[in-house]
Amino acid sequence: MIEFLNLNATHSPYADELREAVGQVVDSGWYLFGEEVDAFERAFSKYNSVDNTVGVASGLDALRIILRAYRELGLMTEGDEVIVPANTYIASILSITDNDLTPVLLEPDPRSYNIDPARVEDHITDRTSAVMIVHLYGQNAYTREIGHLCEKYDLKLIEDAAQAHGAYYQDRRVGSLGDAAGFSFYPGKNLGALGDAGAICTDNSELAECCRTLANYGSQEKYTNKYQGYNSRLDEIQAAALRVKLKYLDQQNQTRREIAQQYLETIDHPDITLPTVYDVSESASGSNGGVPVDHSATPVTAVDSHVWHLFVVRHPDRDALRQYLEDEGVDTIIHYPIPPHEQEAYSEWEDRSLPITERIHEEVLSLPMGPHLSEEEAVTVSELVNQYPHS
Ligand SMILES: *Cc1c(COP(=O)(O)O)cnc(C)c1O
Repeated sequence: MIEFLNLNATHSPYADELREAVGQVVDSGWYLFGEEVDAFERAFSKYNSVDNTVGVASGLDALRIILRAYRELGLMTEGDEVIVPANTYIASILSITDNDLTPVLLEPDPRSYNIDPARVEDHITDRTSAVMIVHLYGQNAYTREIGHLCEKYDLKLIEDAAQAHGAYYQDRRVGSLGDAAGFSFYPGKNLGALGDAGAICTDNSELAECCRTLANYGSQEKYTNKYQGYNSRLDEIQAAALRVKLKYLDQQNQTRREIAQQYLETIDHPDITLPTVYDVSESASGSNGGVPVDHSATPVTAVDSHVWHLFVVRHPDRDALRQYLEDEGVDTIIHYPIPPHEQEAYSEWEDRSLPITERIHEEVLSLPMGPHLSEEEAVTVSELVNQYPHS
């Protein structure tokens, strides 16, 4: 079986270092609010070129604590609107509704699967207080146009960077592009912990302080509670593991790029839509700060800021393609089969029609992707996809 994900294989180049780091925490007898968390927060701030990192318990918590902090600081109020792509993972939406804010679901760009900058301005009202961009599948979603709109209308720009650790917009890392960013270190993410973990990155020290307080029961000083907070901490074991894994992130992202490049260059099937990579390098002159790369003409790595958390293709009969690949020994996953607005959890949106989003959810299939894959396996996947009967 060509596996979709294999964390043992992902960890194999540094498994001893990981065991050693975790073992040291076990032996230290100190498990929360310690040196490992401090050191990881500093390292992650440096990696992303931001002033503050606040470790929390998950990616969902990172996002909901950012929004809650804006509410506590009086910068957002109940019912304010947050513009967000409709095809995101449900966590982005949950972080908004959990704060009694209103998600404004936008159809994405069907080529990048990211927020469509051309649709943003039309959805800004006098209740809009933020735009949440989601760097879906590992591709930067920020554009100059979105940055300008947020300035023009005085909106907070929040990044859901849960799938894009290490990705770039020009020479800046995602997570440093807006007012605040949420990261997830769910084990399968590009930078994954040995369990749940997450982080908030921001240059705004007041916001960071508020998030840190909220994540610790709303308390700055022991037994004194400023806010009705949460218990959402990054613990020492996770921080120790993340500190080891952060050192290998760029290298492992590069392996993902090589696999993606091999897929892009060799998969050639009339019914299959490959992902579109946007050139967001300094020299790209598209009006939105990003232009699609013609990967038949350009070496993808030359312009690639993408970190390929997932390699997502589309096929009109996705389920049959998936079955075929499974029969041939290739494990695939669907990210995601049901969009948030069609979930029972949001039954109030039952009548919403978002045809681009719905079509994406019907057609997407994620091929095996990750540092665990060998080049040979990637070649086999491409060949099997190419052999799939045409419609
Ligand atoms: C994984 C993910 C999250 C949530 O992260 P958790 O750590 O699972 O809470 C949020 N947004 C996106 C886009 C994700 O992929």
